[in-house]
Amino acid sequence: MSLRFGTAGIPHSVKQRSTENGIKWLAELGFGCMEMEFVRSVQMKEQRAQKVKEVAEQEGIELTVHAPYYVNLNSREAEKVNASKERILKAARVGWAAGAHSLTFHAAFYHDDDHEDVFRKVLSELKELRTIMDDEGIEMDLRPETTGSPTQFGTVAEILRLSQEIPGVYPCVDFSHLQARSNGQHNTYEDFAAVLEAIKKHLGRDALNQMHMHLSGIDYGPKGEKKHVPLPDADMNYEAVLQVLLDYDVGGWLICESPVLEDDAKILSDTYERLQKDET
Ligand SMILES: [Zn+2]
Repeated sequence: MSLRFGTAGIPHSVKQRSTENGIKWLAELGFGCMEMEFVRSVQMKEQRAQKVKEVAEQEGIELTVHAPYYVNLNSREAEKVNASKERILKAARVGWAAGAHSLTFHAAFYHDDDHEDVFRKVLSELKELRTIMDDEGIEMDLRPETTGSPTQFGTVAEILRLSQEIPGVYPCVDFSHLQARSNGQHNTYEDFAAVLEAIKKHLGRDALNQMHMHLSGIDYGPKGEKKHVPLPDADMNYEAVLQVLLDYDVGGWLICESPVLEDDAKILSDTYERLQKDET
């Protein structure tokens, strides 16, 4: 399988910051993908997105999208749920115009609600979103992310259940979030392998051929994620993650969200290559 490495957004070492220049620079550095970070809002217009698509295709860089953070499909206010869905849809439309393959987002907060009730609520909202996307011909994966805090909806089990219930919905696995939400417990080869086993069991081997993943250093506490930190400053066992991805022959996109984006993405891809060589 081919696994592509890339950055969450435009690399820092790009001279004139733009999505197009970010894509060109990543290709120059030898990376294979980039996530478009619409995390505050979706500013890009569809016309501009079509230009991005041309550049990405020319440069051989595949794109993924991160929808705005201000999403909560379990808000008590109907207005906020609707605004959340609009944000996801806007990111989907612009991302699709840019030729992106996958859209990830943080689905919801539990508040004090029963987790099963939250699951039902998210399921019904996501079904609606997927239907709208299908009607509009947006053939992009819709991928709720495994989240970094125990107050957020998004365990591996929850996301896998959603994926089983709705065609076109798949997990975005953020390994750093899994470590953070467990206050550091989830950080061994066996832990990471268990995630891939669960995906294989519930969604089939094909799901491993095209995975959307996040990996970076992370600072955490009992309440989960505090902030992303550079890999060398974190205890994230990224080498074990990469070994598991290699052993399970995982393909797709591995996005680095570190504060030193391309430096850490390079550490990841170099380590992966070294592990690959060790095996042959
Ligand atoms: Zn995210």
